[in-house]
Amino acid sequence: MDLNLSGRRALVTGGGKGIGAAVARELAAMGAEVVINFRADRESAESVAAEIPGATLQQADVGDPAQVAELFAGSGPFDVVVNNAGILRDRLLLRMSAEDWDQVLRTDLSAAFHVTKAAVPQMMRSRWGRIVNVTSIVGLGGNPGQANYAAAKAGLVGLTKSVAKELGTRGITCNAVAPGYVRTELTNSSLSEEMLKELVRLTPLRREGTASEIAAAVAFLCSPAASFITGEVLVVDGGLSA
Ligand code: NAD
Repeated sequence: MDLNLSGRRALVTGGGKGIGAAVARELAAMGAEVVINFRADRESAESVAAEIPGATLQQADVGDPAQVAELFAGSGPFDVVVNNAGILRDRLLLRMSAEDWDQVLRTDLSAAFHVTKAAVPQMMRSRWGRIVNVTSIVGLGGNPGQANYAAAKAGLVGLTKSVAKELGTRGITCNAVAPGYVRTELTNSSLSEEMLKELVRLTPLRREGTASEIAAAVAFLCSPAASFITGEVLVVDGGLSA
């Protein structure tokens, strides 16, 4: 199986910690030259980059199209793009502010549009490209308290399938990975221990996933081996949503 990405440049948004950091490690192990984007936590991004030979860092808020343009001017072009940056602002619908809604849509959905749009012209010229969007099983099934996040992640599925259909003839694939529960800063801040135990109880594999298990699926979809897969949503959740 061809997993070789040598000679390819890869961008991982929000790659300074959690799942994105695991993706950056995996893509680098496959030979890609990796650019790790981060927004605010420079220290964490620097320590991840320090472990990865050849990795470079690029600060940008990918929810802002002007900063995405600067990111591409400074570090682009890319053959592989992983739209991983994400935030939560969980609230029940009646307590959710318009700002909670807008911030999540901006980071978890619009950012993928800005980054994909910036990446595609070069991918079209080279007639090869891999785009992977990190969605969530919440985008497929919804979740109380996460209307904003579920809408953004469902939107990513629509974006993924549309981009796949638009750009297939150009040698570009676009897929999504939908993780179940993985313990990271993101989930630590939003789920109680009790909720986590219940999630594990409902998971056929009876455990949490790891960032590297999500990264393995993302990396496969970025590889030459996945050349006939596009418009797909690969669920990686230990069977939780089966
Ligand atoms: P995390 O909080 O550890 O990492 C998210 C990263 O995104 C952070 O590095 C953060 O700084 C970055 N980020 C946030 N806003 C940004 C912006 N505007 N510009 C650039 N970077 C930004 O969380 P994680 O769990 O590793 O999540 C990674 C992705 O996986 C997210 O899209 C998340 O929704 C998705 N996901 C996570 C889980 C889980 O259980 N952890 C489940 C399903 C989906």
